[in-house]
Order: sequence, then C-alpha cells, then structure tokens
Amino acid sequence: MVAVATASTTAGTSRTRRRTRCFRDFAETMIRLRGERLRFPERPYIDKLYSCLSRNIVIRASRQVEKSTYLANRIVYELVTRPGIRILFVSPRAEQTQSFITSRLHPTIVDSPLIRQALGLRKNARLKQKHLQFPNGSEVYARAAFHSGDATRGISADILICDEYQDLADGDLPVLQETLSHARRPITILTGTPKLVTNHLEAAFCQSTANQWTIRCEHCNHACVPDLGVIGSAGLICSQCRELLDVQSGYWMASNPTSTWGEGFWINHLMAPWVEHTSILQRQFDYDESRFKNEVLGLSTAVGELALTRDQLLACAVDRPQPATATDIPAGERQLLVAGVDWGGAGGSHTAIAIGSIKPGDPLFTIWCWKTFPKLQEPREASRAVAALCRAFGVRVIAADGMGSGRVANSMLLEDLAADNPGITTGGQRILYGICYGSQDGSPTADGLVEQLTIGRSKWIGGLFSRVKLGHCRIPREADCPEAYSQILAEYADYDSVTRTIRYRHPESQPDDMLHASTYALVAASRLATAATADPEMTSFSGTAPTRLATAAPAAGLQRESDPVVTPDPWDLDDGFSGQFFSGP
Ligand SMILES: [Zn+2]
Repeated sequence: MVAVATASTTAGTSRTRRRTRCFRDFAETMIRLRGERLRFPERPYIDKLYSCLSRNIVIRASRQVEKSTYLANRIVYELVTRPGIRILFVSPRAEQTQSFITSRLHPTIVDSPLIRQALGLRKNARLKQKHLQFPNGSEVYARAAFHSGDATRGISADILICDEYQDLADGDLPVLQETLSHARRPITILTGTPKLVTNHLEAAFCQSTANQWTIRCEHCNHACVPDLGVIGSAGLICSQCRELLDVQSGYWMASNPTSTWGEGFWINHLMAPWVEHTSILQRQFDYDESRFKNEVLGLSTAVGELALTRDQLLACAVDRPQPATATDIPAGERQLLVAGVDWGGAGGSHTAIAIGSIKPGDPLFTIWCWKTFPKLQEPREASRAVAALCRAFGVRVIAADGMGSGRVANSMLLEDLAADNPGITTGGQRILYGICYGSQDGSPTADGLVEQLTIGRSKWIGGLFSRVKLGHCRIPREADCPEAYSQILAEYADYDSVTRTIRYRHPESQPDDMLHASTYALVAASRLATAATADPEMTSFSGTAPTRLATAAPAAGLQRESDPVVTPDPWDLDDGFSGQFFSGP
C-alpha cells in the first residue's frame, strides 16, 4: 500500500479507493461461472482479500480454498478495467499453467457475457493458451518456471502472478520480476501452499503484513487463530477456555502491520464454510502432522521442528526410581521385558540400552530403564555391560542395531550371553534381532544366530513419538537418566514433500542413541506382545523371577522338533515367539 500512499495525488488516492471497492462488486456482477453469478456466502474473510489492491500480495493457503478462483477473477478484473494491461501468469509446471488457463481462466471469460463484451470478444471466440490477446489491448502470458524464470525473458508485464509459488525455484522471483521493470505500477501476486518455513513462500509471507483470521472467544475474550490449538472434537474451540468458537465472527489482524512489502493472507480449511469438521478430524488422523499443517492448516512446517517437546516427554515420566533388576518390576510385566540396544561407534556415540515391555492388548509401552554407557567404550566391555543388564532384567528378546559394526557387536553380545547360558549357542535358538532401518518393514531373516529384521525407520520412530504424545508411554524419571532425555529431545522432524513422510534427524553435536535403543525396544516389545496375544499360555506366567526363568523348563511339546533339546534359558525365544515361552516352574 506504500506505493499509493506517499506522493500520489488526492485524485489518485480516490481512484484507488474506487477500484478497491469495485473488485468484489465487479466479480459478483460481471462474472458468471456455469451460468451462475459468483457469490461468496459465509466467507467473511473474502472481503479484505477482494478489496486488496496492494503492490504485492501473498496468499499462503491450504489446498483448495478458492485460490485459483481468486486469481482468475483478479486477472479478468485487471484485463477489463485496465485496457492494454499485460499480465504474466507463472506456475512451476507446464501442466499446471495449462490447467489454470484452460479450466479456470477460459471459463471465467467465456461463460461471462459481460466480460466478453467488455474485452471485445465475439461469442465463439477461441482463446489461446500461452499468449492471450484481447481486442481491448489487454494480454495474458502463461509460462512454466520450475527450474528457472528463463521462459519469461523478453516478456514485459504490468502484473506478475505466481501460482504454487512454493514450488518455483528458490531465487526465481527477482528474475521473474524483471518482466515488470517497465511497468508504471507493477503488481506481484504470489499464492501457494506452505512447505517448510525455509521456503520462499514463507519468506514472502513473513515480509508481508501476514494477516491472520482472528476469532475472539465470546467466553473469555481470548483472540484465537485457526491453527492446531483450536481443533476440538465437535468444532473449533477457544485455545484457552475450550468453549466453541464462531469462525464467522472473525476478522483479519495483521501480525506485521508495519510491513512496507505488501499484504499477506493466511487462509485454511478451518475458515472454509464448505469443509466439514469431521473431515478435518479425519485428515488429522490420516495425515502425518507436517502434511496436515501444510495442506489443511496452510501452515509452514518449522525446519527441524522438534519431534517432541520437553513437556510432552515429561508428561510420560513416572515418579519413582528406575528399577535395577527385574525384581523391582511388577510380576505381571516381568515376563514381557525386552531390550533395545544402540551400539556406540567410532563417531563417539554412546552405547544405549532401553528395557521395556508392552502388555498384550494394551497400547501402553513402558520403558522401565534407560541406561547409556560411556563413549568410546571398548566393544567387548560394552557387550559385557549390555549382557549383564539383560541378565539382571531377564529380558526375553533383544533388538539391537544390526547395521555396519552392529553386526560384530551383536555376535559379541551372543557370546557374552552364552557365557552364562551355553544353550544359546549350542541350541541354535535365535533371541536377538539385528535391526536395520529401511523405508518399510520387512520379514526377519536368519543370519547365524541373529534374526536380521528391517523396520520402517519413520514408521517406528514416529510410532514411538506418537505414543509419547498420546500418553501411551511411561518412561523413567529424568533424574535417573538425564542424558537419555537430552538425546530423545535432540530429535528433529523434517517433512519430505516428495515422499510425504517425516524424516527424523539430530544435530551432529547431539547424539540420539537412546532414541534408537527405545525404538528397537518398541519393535521387540510389540512383537512379543503380539506373540503373547496369540499364545494364551502367556497368562499362566506369574511372577517367575529371571533367576527362576533360567532354570525353568519349556512348556511341554512346544519345543520345535528340529531343535535339539537344550538347557533352557531366558533367551529361548524365536522369531514368531510361538511356543517359545516358559510356563513357569
Ligand atoms: Zn475462550
């Protein structure tokens, strides 16, 4: 708005005001879509957008909130009211550009007799795709600029419109804006659906006035905006007092009112009258958080958004010391203990172990113990320490990092476990999963005495975070394992817009070994719980201490026929777990 405010004459200002009032009136009176007049019922947020003739406009919006309708209307308005104007429409891909021109712009013109007349078009006039010229002297150029703005070189325009701006090449805007260098009053309009906050769409939005639809709570007067915090089970609710909100009573409030760049609008599905609340809830359930924020809320995802907040993690902490052995764990859960191990490596990472359990049919994942061993520990020393802890808890299954040097560490661990229980090696029992991360889950394959198991990295790490967020996780108190807390809180989530999944990563300076140990433990505990559900014999387990387990006999008839009879030990679990449980003394 600065462009018109400073030195413009009174006449110029009033002309701008008149045009400002006119755009929406123009759209509603002149434009027909499929024979119908254009109307904007229950869209109070449309007023300011349709009255905004700022030099720069950015619309950051979720998918399908009538962005294209706005762009087509705006183009037609300019073509008609400023004869001789040249408009450059750019989107990333040729198909997108073509689709906008043929399915949005052409119908808006062709179906509206008054528009055709104003532009001087005959009734059956055929419109072109890449360069539309109208008898009144106005023109539209349509181009794609995914890799660069080169396709627009040589074009001279008054208005530049970039649709799906987030997918244009970063740094393209200045190249595209060169087309406006001869314009008397250049206008740039950017629209798009957000991705990461580092994206240039977000940068433009931050430069703008960044208007957000603000709904004042009738009960507590709190000013709410349509984001995650107002999604209630029955409708939009106040983020403070939880009472229902009336989205229709909202108004635009500039987050950055002193912007000299131009006007920005954030529009999303929570404001759109045609989107059912149940469909919002369904997508919140179906989509991962980043996609939901991008496509439904029209919000950028923070780069490296913290996967968990400290409060979310602390909400799962128990208020008691972490157990040192299985005897400190309630009898009913002692039988289901598993360990997840992330081996330390040359990179100076720690060896980390998480001991946990899941009761069959219960979503709760309990992590009883988190322990990290010193950095740069000699591998054999680390293996012995892990074996000793597994023994103290009598864990039934171990899932350990099976990638790279993890394979060596796992063989060593088997040896150390076998030192007390020769049956492990002589009996050929497989009780150790060597975990490899992949894009999706695979089936276990035998690798010597280890079962190699590929698990979907994002799925299982994300699954652990989801359990924490939903309160389906119990963890040791922070005082007993502060380094585990800092390792888990180190994790960041990035949204991969190509695969539409979340990628988890951690800063190089901050290890996240305990996150992986806990994820492996979750995998092992889930498999054990599934097996236990399928095997009702599990219910007969009652408080057998690990020391007893070591001497307990396997349930009769459950040993595989091909397996030699071995000294029973607490590690006697197999891939499917079926029939490998001990039924007590
Ligand atoms: Zn309230």
